[in-house]
Amino acid sequence: MSKMDAVIPTKLSLESKFRFRCHKGIKCFTSCCKDIEILLTPYDVVRLKKRLNMSSDDFLGRYTRMKTDEKSSHPYAYLRMNDDEEKKCPFVTEDGCTVYTDRPANCRYYPIGQGTIKKEGKEGPFQQEFYFFIKEPHCYGYHEKKQWTVDAWRKDQEVDLYDGINREWKAIQLRRNLPSEPELDPRKQIQFYMASYNLDKFRDFIFGSEFLNVFDIDDETVEKIRTDDVELIQFGVKYIKYLMMLEESLKLKKDAEKYRKKDNDGPE
Ligand code: SF4
Ligand code: SF4
Repeated sequence: MSKMDAVIPTKLSLESKFRFRCHKGIKCFTSCCKDIEILLTPYDVVRLKKRLNMSSDDFLGRYTRMKTDEKSSHPYAYLRMNDDEEKKCPFVTEDGCTVYTDRPANCRYYPIGQGTIKKEGKEGPFQQEFYFFIKEPHCYGYHEKKQWTVDAWRKDQEVDLYDGINREWKAIQLRRNLPSEPELDPRKQIQFYMASYNLDKFRDFIFGSEFLNVFDIDDETVEKIRTDDVELIQFGVKYIKYLMMLEESLKLKKDAEKYRKKDNDGPE
């Protein structure tokens, strides 16, 4: 939730220490909740739509804007700031964040940022998460005495829960660093966005089309994704990987051809 020039280019580990405290009495209170880019994750949308008692479609239409990443061609949802001069977050008031207990992962992490790199190990490639400071001049939280490790901060802010649920989805972003990867065509972009963010629509698609006649999904998974949004996030990641031909994460049924559209590889 920051501007790139505020990023301190030093990689931090879970044991790295820093001083920080954000509280209602601080003179910069809520000054960080405006004119910022907050990339949303699938679990952010699940928490916020539930909090606001909205469908995912309504939430995305009202509170987000979609932006396609130039490098990867993946479409991502960003929290939409108010459309006026101040460009405040729609959820901020003088008393603070009105969706605090369901605020997005990037808001939880702040003033820490998080990234992931792919590394080569003895047993093949693996992902390594790293952290960095975001120091913006208007933020006085760094002048406070309370000391943290990155690990303790993540737990205190409950962002470890968010990372656990979003981890596989975030790993798909690493594809942007592979020069050989083709751009997603518009149809796949729509599917990527739906399976990432618009989970109510994705569920309707699975249960209201020939999807379950085309893909071989076990009964236990079918029952889980019928009602559980977190299970549906994980299933959505499998579907995205299948669409992007990253791995054979879903299997077709033997007679799938009968149910597939002639002009693409999706269900009727
Ligand atoms: S969601 Fe809450 S914490 Fe995040 S920018 Fe908006 S008001 Fe601030
Ligand atoms: S201390 Fe930093 S994070 Fe907290 S309100 Fe002030 S600017 Fe925002």
